[in-house]
Amino acid sequence: MALKGLDIFKLSPKKNCKECGCPTCMAFSMKVASGAMELSKCPYFSEDALASLSEATAPPMKTIKVGTGDAEMSLGGETVLFRHEKTFVSKTRYAVAVCDCMDDAAIEERLSGAAKVDYERIGERMYAEMIYVNHGEEAKTDYVELVKKAAAVEGRVLILGVKDAELAKAALAVCKDSKPILNGADASNYEAMNAVATEAGVVLGVSGKDANEIYDTVAALEKLGNKNLVIDCGTSSVKEAYAIAVQFRRAAIKDGDRTCGYPTIVNAAVLAHGDKHMQAALASLFTMKYGSIVVVEQMDYATALPLYGLRQNIFTDPQKPMKVEPGIYPINGGDENSICLTTVDFALTYFVVSGELERSGVPCNLIINDAGGLSVLTSWAAGKFSSSSIAKFFEEQDIAGKIKNRKLVLPGKVAVLKGDLEAKMPGWEIIVGPKEAVQLVKFLKDMQG
Ligand code: SF4
Repeated sequence: MALKGLDIFKLSPKKNCKECGCPTCMAFSMKVASGAMELSKCPYFSEDALASLSEATAPPMKTIKVGTGDAEMSLGGETVLFRHEKTFVSKTRYAVAVCDCMDDAAIEERLSGAAKVDYERIGERMYAEMIYVNHGEEAKTDYVELVKKAAAVEGRVLILGVKDAELAKAALAVCKDSKPILNGADASNYEAMNAVATEAGVVLGVSGKDANEIYDTVAALEKLGNKNLVIDCGTSSVKEAYAIAVQFRRAAIKDGDRTCGYPTIVNAAVLAHGDKHMQAALASLFTMKYGSIVVVEQMDYATALPLYGLRQNIFTDPQKPMKVEPGIYPINGGDENSICLTTVDFALTYFVVSGELERSGVPCNLIINDAGGLSVLTSWAAGKFSSSSIAKFFEEQDIAGKIKNRKLVLPGKVAVLKGDLEAKMPGWEIIVGPKEAVQLVKFLKDMQG
């Protein structure tokens, strides 16, 4: 049951020292109760108070860590059902699937394909972060050898899909140091699998024939002291997997039922029955509702580009503008003699404009203004991208001292600034550029010609 601010305040140190950043202990208690702050921000709660409050103020959904080093990642830890309420915490991770029921050539193709999609979009690396290594009914190859091969793909977290405790033990012996997930516990084997996962210190995945069976197995594992779990939404049907993902998340967040508060795995590769388009649709669906890990057969660019774009939209904080650092960005080997173009620091604007400039092949300097992370027209309307702010930015950054070329291209959408800028930046030739970034290639080439 969620605690009220007053319950927390009763146990607070009542020093009103402001060290937590709140003006009073009461304000701090209210924030902790609403989930806006963590109890650990106050260093003065007594150990007894911490012990009685920590469990009750912890997020309703556990944060589970997997992987090590650069490949370490968090799953779960969500506090809301909808992104408009508050930011989601841990983005969906994607796994490509291999199985010991596949022949060697197919396995090789999948594993080498796992590293093919790897690019950056608005400062975020996009790639399949995990490999799901399944133990099938009709194995064609040695499972442990397959795990070794998958473990050799750099920077990926493994998910071992195996229900046989002895085989799981042998597989973990070759990869447990990389902190994989052992996805293999169900109502029939959870005690044995719990022993294997606990001994290896890895996260245990729990599946079942329906939501009730999964719930009972999770509760039984919690009784055994294991709360390092993820929930497998199953492969019987899309309807059942969707119901499990949504019901468990709702029960955790809305009803505070912590037995439901674990990250989830959704195997879109199996649910899609070989239909590539259906698999892409399911991966999108479960990125939104509520797959912590989505397994696909393969990650190709046709699937990745819309899918990672969707994920980035859902898992970024809508209250924080996506910005790039203001400054001079030389493009195509631009130097002090190259033409200058200026725009705002909204990340999407930067990446679209810089992409088009690169495409033009023309050496130039892209000068990014500090415009509060807003788009061109929004920042202009808010007075953050005006002739005064551009002139001031150029002066502060000493652009004229760093670049000799005196041609400056303005975004066409703020052509209205031309006259004012010419008055405020004498010596510069202000040129009105195109309204859309896509027209920059022709515009620059025409200028050169
Ligand atoms: S740091 Fe602790 S004692 Fe100080 S104001 Fe915040 S809650 Fe109160």
